[in-house]
Amino acid sequence: MLSVIGMAINSELKKQLQSRLSDRVRFDEPMSAHTTFRVGGPADAFVTAIDETEMIFLIKWINDNGLPFFIIGGGTNLLVRDRGIRGIVISLAKNLARISRQGLTGLSAMAGANLGTLCRFAIRNGLSGLNFALGIPGTVGGAVRMNAGAWKGSIGNVIDGIRIIQPDGKVESMEKGALKFSYRSLSFASESSGDLSSSVILEAIFSLSQQSPESLKAEADTMLNARKKSQPIGFASAGCFFRNPDDRESAGKLIDLAGAKGLRVGDAEVSEKHANFIVNRGKASADDIIRLMRIVQETVFQKFNVMLEPEVKIVGD
Ligand SMILES: Cc1cc2nc3c(=O)[nH]c(=O)nc-3n(C[C@H](O)[C@H](O)[C@H](O)COP(=O)(O)OP(=O)(O)OC[C@H]3O[C@@H](n4cnc5c(N)ncnc54)[C@H](O)[C@@H]3O)c2cc1C
Repeated sequence: MLSVIGMAINSELKKQLQSRLSDRVRFDEPMSAHTTFRVGGPADAFVTAIDETEMIFLIKWINDNGLPFFIIGGGTNLLVRDRGIRGIVISLAKNLARISRQGLTGLSAMAGANLGTLCRFAIRNGLSGLNFALGIPGTVGGAVRMNAGAWKGSIGNVIDGIRIIQPDGKVESMEKGALKFSYRSLSFASESSGDLSSSVILEAIFSLSQQSPESLKAEADTMLNARKKSQPIGFASAGCFFRNPDDRESAGKLIDLAGAKGLRVGDAEVSEKHANFIVNRGKASADDIIRLMRIVQETVFQKFNVMLEPEVKIVGD
């Protein structure tokens, strides 16, 4: 989470934001409208950045005023607590969305681009390496930050470099060697470079290989079908809730064997179809989901002596 302990947004600061962004800033905006879990209380301010210049302005302005902030992509890996987020939530989704070719086998995508759109662009252009990501919802920025993965593929395997905005508003290019991708996470390779979670990912450059669009499309269809069969479609969720404890053990299998499938707190339920999905059947609160998470952790711990950790980012008050 990109937040620091900071000042509250007073009415003068609200006026400044409004005069710069007009209807692209909303105050007390319910986060349930911006997360696939469909839960989450209000953000003090919710801002949609329209381009790179505006993004840089916002980060500098936030830094100068000592405000806390949080970057949201598609909101597909987030559980926002019921009292919401203090400070400014900045959304990149949809606006900073340019995707273009780079040389023979490279692609560049702005952080707000939809990940699925990027995968389909790669297929059309006969570029292989991103099919694993088809069906993972959200933005390119969120996928890079989370090192999103499936079918043994992950974003870190196909990244050539990224551009970021530092907290002081400086834009910096980082090559792959300066980055450390690990299981569902990204950090700087060198500790002296600081904490990547206080920077904004602006753009990602991908290094792919050539393959015919027809064979890529056939492979993509197989993967998408397998995903549809194994995941609960049509219910609000944030994907897999818990991290796998290690390479050999899946959290879903442990939850299933512990008999936790179907457990419920209010409208929050451990999916019958995929035990590592907690779904919101309609009116769940973040609190319901967190209480269910604890029950699942306890149930699995009692049976296997393994404490599952959430993969979903739990943020807010
Ligand atoms: C049905 C479903 C299926 C899923 N399947 C998978 C799967 O197979 N594999 C997988 O890995 N994940 C999966 N997920 C989880 C989720 O889709 C991924 O983690 C996704 O990459 C998150 O992207 P996002 O844009 O929604 O990020 P968000 O949820 O908006 O944010 C996630 C984190 O990234 C940070 N962030 C977002 N954008 C930026 C940026 N530009 N700069 C800096 N930080 C940023 C946020 O601050 C937050 O900490 C699934 C989710 C759902 C709902």
